[in-house]
Amino acid sequence: MKVGKKYLAPVLFLVIFESIAVTLWLTKNNLFYLVNFSYIGISISLGLFLFIRKNEHARRITQLLVGLYMLVYLGLICGENMQIEGFWYYLFTGVFEAATIHYAVAKIFGPLIFGRGWCGYACWTAMVLDFLPFKTPQKPRKKIGWIRYITFAVSLIFVAALFLAKVGNIERIMFWAFIIGNAVYYGVGIVLAFLFQDNRAFCKYICPITVFLKPMSYFSLLRIKCNTDKCVSCGKCKKVCPMEVDVTDNSRKRKNGTECILCMECVKNCPKNAL
Ligand code: SF4
Ligand code: SF4
Ligand code: SF4
Repeated sequence: MKVGKKYLAPVLFLVIFESIAVTLWLTKNNLFYLVNFSYIGISISLGLFLFIRKNEHARRITQLLVGLYMLVYLGLICGENMQIEGFWYYLFTGVFEAATIHYAVAKIFGPLIFGRGWCGYACWTAMVLDFLPFKTPQKPRKKIGWIRYITFAVSLIFVAALFLAKVGNIERIMFWAFIIGNAVYYGVGIVLAFLFQDNRAFCKYICPITVFLKPMSYFSLLRIKCNTDKCVSCGKCKKVCPMEVDVTDNSRKRKNGTECILCMECVKNCPKNAL
């Protein structure tokens, strides 16, 4: 394979994120967007580059670079609520800033291109959960995914209630909601991981953001596909998949297809290079 083609993906991602960075910088006249999206683009491209170089920590490096930046810098230092409550808050105030842009890019329209790449390479909740010992599920999947709709509704009702009750200083409340919300996510995520022996149990059953992510990623341009001529049906890909995706089925309706986080574990472990 030619060097240029080999490194096409990191270059492409860098170009996409730089385009977003420059467009937002110029249209919003705010240098923050240039720095922010450039940093994220570089982090993702670095991860892809390292993956091509067969570095086994490639995905985790990107996940830590982006996740820590969002949690510590944007969330704790800059005081932006980047969780779903922050998205509702900015949406209600009619401001197309911070969390609304973040959601539009990473979680609503972005998944049409890169599916649930956010979940594999950037989410600060999963960044911690991925350190736990159950990298692949040890127990059968539970049929409790409906909980995500409850947490989604609760987040919306919580912010709507603040506006309807005309509570003062909502911005401050949003900051504390971010801290408390994250603490709750980590707590519940860790307990569920040990209970279900599955690091990604929180993602599968509780996370409200999947209400956006799942339907959008159904149409994702970027998908892991199986070369059925090479595949020998050994089942290794399904064994290593943290999200229990039937990646040997190329249809969009494949089992747990909207759960794929593009972690590449199946690709790395396929003995026939069929993925
Ligand atoms: S499902 Fe939710 S918690 Fe899990 S990685 Fe995606 S956004 Fe993060
Ligand atoms: S690991 Fe590769 S060869 Fe085995 S079932 Fe999956 S795609 Fe087919
Ligand atoms: S192992 Fe493969 S199918 Fe499973 S989530 Fe990762 S990339 Fe997707």
